Amino acid sequence: MDYPLAIISDVHANLEALESVLQQIKERGIKRILFLGDAVGYGPDPDRCVELIYDNCEVVLAGNHDWAVIGLTPLEYFNRDARVAAEWTATQIKERTRKLLEEMKILKRLSKESLFLVHSTPKDPDAWNYILTLYDAEVNFQYFEEKICFIGHSHRPFIIERLPSSEMVVYNDKTEFKQSCRYMINAGSVGQPRDGDPRATYVILDEEKVEILRVEYNFRKTQEKMENIGLPEFLIERLEKGI
Ligand code: ZN
Repeated sequence: MDYPLAIISDVHANLEALESVLQQIKERGIKRILFLGDAVGYGPDPDRCVELIYDNCEVVLAGNHDWAVIGLTPLEYFNRDARVAAEWTATQIKERTRKLLEEMKILKRLSKESLFLVHSTPKDPDAWNYILTLYDAEVNFQYFEEKICFIGHSHRPFIIERLPSSEMVVYNDKTEFKQSCRYMINAGSVGQPRDGDPRATYVILDEEKVEILRVEYNFRKTQEKMENIGLPEFLIERLEKGI
């Protein structure tokens, strides 16, 4: 069975959000899950989240936070809160978690499904740039051949449909795939949504259509753990606001 597929991204060590999303994926009978990076950083449960991701996902990509924690991306690029959380994470994780972070791939192509998967951009996967505008998207459509590219990184979900004329249409929740079009889809964030909706985000697709889904989870529990650890206040507050 190739379809349906679930795509998850930017878990950021938020175990409550990850468990809620995995539960819903299971209830929907979806067997194949692909992960687009940032398993750790910001949140209180890095070991358990990395383990669960490897147990459940057939593709596991690296994000900038995963690389920062193992020293592959310099922490100077991070703002203060992100840096504090990354430094805490680096001191906490088990050796096995570190090894799993090192094994994460920077991109993945699934030729049968014509999918290109990357955390940040197809153009420069390890430069950790963002696709925030249609211009950014148009530039990046030139850097993959597949019908559909999935990204994460900005924590804001979207579906961009590119017509053969190079015109683009944006959908916020779902669309049916058209034969002549190509797509760039941001899977949003499981563990730290930033589009004003605090619910965990993920995406499901089959051959015909793609849909962005939201799942409520117990963010109070995550916040409590973060408070006990002493992680930065803004990182705690943003979970209930979705910012
Ligand atoms: Zn992220």
